[in-house]
Amino acid sequence: MPTHTQQSAVTAPVTVLGLGPMGRALAAAFLAAGVPTTVWNRTPGRDGELVERGALSARTAEEAVSASPLTVVCVVNYDASDAVLHDDDVTRALKGRTVVNLSADTPERARSAASWAAAHGVRYLDGAIMTPTTTIGTPHGVFIHSGEAALYEEHRPALEALGGTHTHLGEDIGRAAAYDVALLDIFWTAMTGYMHALALAKAEGISARELAPFAVGIGAILPEAFEESAVEVDNGTHSGEGNPITSAASTMAHVIHASEGHGIDAGVMRAAEGLVRRVIGEGHGADGPTRITELLGRR
Ligand code: NDP
Repeated sequence: MPTHTQQSAVTAPVTVLGLGPMGRALAAAFLAAGVPTTVWNRTPGRDGELVERGALSARTAEEAVSASPLTVVCVVNYDASDAVLHDDDVTRALKGRTVVNLSADTPERARSAASWAAAHGVRYLDGAIMTPTTTIGTPHGVFIHSGEAALYEEHRPALEALGGTHTHLGEDIGRAAAYDVALLDIFWTAMTGYMHALALAKAEGISARELAPFAVGIGAILPEAFEESAVEVDNGTHSGEGNPITSAASTMAHVIHASEGHGIDAGVMRAAEGLVRRVIGEGHGADGPTRITELLGRR
């Protein structure tokens, strides 16, 4: 799959719909790259700084999409993007133009958005942004895209004006959202684990700042564990050598007991421990934690 990092020269005009923190960052990056940019947001008054930097402020979404061959949508979710794009005047104005939807939602919503677009003569690409607003317009932004390859190639120069890396994941329109939900799964369970750890540490008189350097150390173990686990999962080996799942169950129980001893909800860890116990109950206690994927993957 092609990943591109090259920043392009000035491209055709672009419209950005949605001026939350991410939409504003996208519009600012387009402007910084010299791309003529029209902006619109449901709630007016969010475009002041962008207009100072040269953005054109559209009064309506219809006016905004009419200004450019390419519209980038970045709102909270697909209920919100549908609310904007399904307006009759906007839909009419979009006919023959391209929408790249960088709002986050599920693969199913991406597929239904693409069906709607096809039914209305709107050219459609889906995508997701994997990094925070501060990375947009810098080499550190990570964008993933899916949809018709030729359409992606046509708009690649404009998308690359946002900086960072852009990876086209394939023609299945739901694929970018599928990566997005899988990656958000990692991020939010990890962050929830960290928040829980900070609460548990606090109950033991340890400040967040005191724990943080050691927490960073735990984070540093993860990249190698991720790579090794991926090989185990794809090969279906689930080796527990050096780290059997019975050992994981024991350490998880310590977290649960210590938390509940302080009256701290241990629901997240109880859910994780429950999966591990089921794996052990099915006779796979000598396997590694990747065996959980087999349990969860069962339909
Ligand atoms: P939000 O997710 O809070 O989205 C705010 C935007 O959605 C505003 O423009 C808001 O308009 C609009 N919106 C909400 N409901 C509606 C609606 N019914 N109709 C029209 N517009 C609506 O903030 P972000 O800008 O941060 O995020 C935008 C997208 O980018 C999200 O899908 C998010 O998951 C994704 N993202 C964000 C990152 C970040 O660091 N912020 C990182 C990676 C991805 P209004 O001002 O009128 O309320």
